[in-house]
Amino acid sequence: MSVYAKKSLGQNFLNNAHYQEKIIKAILSVNEKPLILEIGPGRGAITQHLVPASEKFWAVEKDKELGAALAEKYSAVDHVKICIDDFLKVDLGKLFETRSPGQKIIAVGNLPYNVGSQILIKLLPLNDLFSHLFLMFQKEVAERCVAKAGTRDFGVLSAWVQLYSKASLLFKLPPNAFSPAPKVDSAFVSFELAPRYQAEQNRVIIELIKKAFQTRRKMLGTSLKAWRKLDPAWDQEFEGLWKKRPEELSLEQLASLALGYGGGKSK
Ligand code: SAM
Repeated sequence: MSVYAKKSLGQNFLNNAHYQEKIIKAILSVNEKPLILEIGPGRGAITQHLVPASEKFWAVEKDKELGAALAEKYSAVDHVKICIDDFLKVDLGKLFETRSPGQKIIAVGNLPYNVGSQILIKLLPLNDLFSHLFLMFQKEVAERCVAKAGTRDFGVLSAWVQLYSKASLLFKLPPNAFSPAPKVDSAFVSFELAPRYQAEQNRVIIELIKKAFQTRRKMLGTSLKAWRKLDPAWDQEFEGLWKKRPEELSLEQLASLALGYGGGKSK
């Protein structure tokens, strides 16, 4: 196995036993014998604890060399399947073929910082497959995940997270918990998947929030001008909000604004 970590794959290995233990404890507090998907197992720092604790274990690792070494290590362990692929491209239906219908999986990952949010957005709507996600992010991304509407950190990522899950920032980790040490602090976040609205409604709400937060210092009436023209009844109904900035509204207010819109026939 190469001794060098690949920067392009965001390889910062969690060698610190104290933090490994905290992660495992958090996951097993949800289910003592879980089905686990690990994203980016790397050299197996977390894998080594999760494999013996799980009923079934899948891992997806993009690094061919590290993936092959793990596949070799666990080749004789029946309940383990290591897949060498890019998680963003993997067909999850095919990967979980051996799952019994209705069984839910816990996804775990000390994610590469550059694709962490993309991986989270892929996972959040999949509440038919996953019950919980336990993921590591750069601290600022973790803080945005749990930021409440009406605060400076709240944005499109926060809306995604809070429309699809109940998220908690569990603990923060300093750079020296990892090897090589990244330049930034990290934080470990749990997500209990529980969509607030139906899939199509969530899609419309996110569309509106994206539009409104593209220019977050502008009044809603200005950033949503095109939508107001398309739906004069909506324009009138929500007149009281047009002088507000998006960051002054709660998520519920943003959602009801989006769900009231009919002009683009997107609902
Ligand atoms: N889990 C290990 C640990 O905690 O020590 C490694 C964590 S390291 C931060 C991220 C891991 O994700 C690396 O092993 C890297 O090769 C892998 N990786 C990067 N991009 C990936 C992708 N798109 N799909 C799957 N794995 C990926």
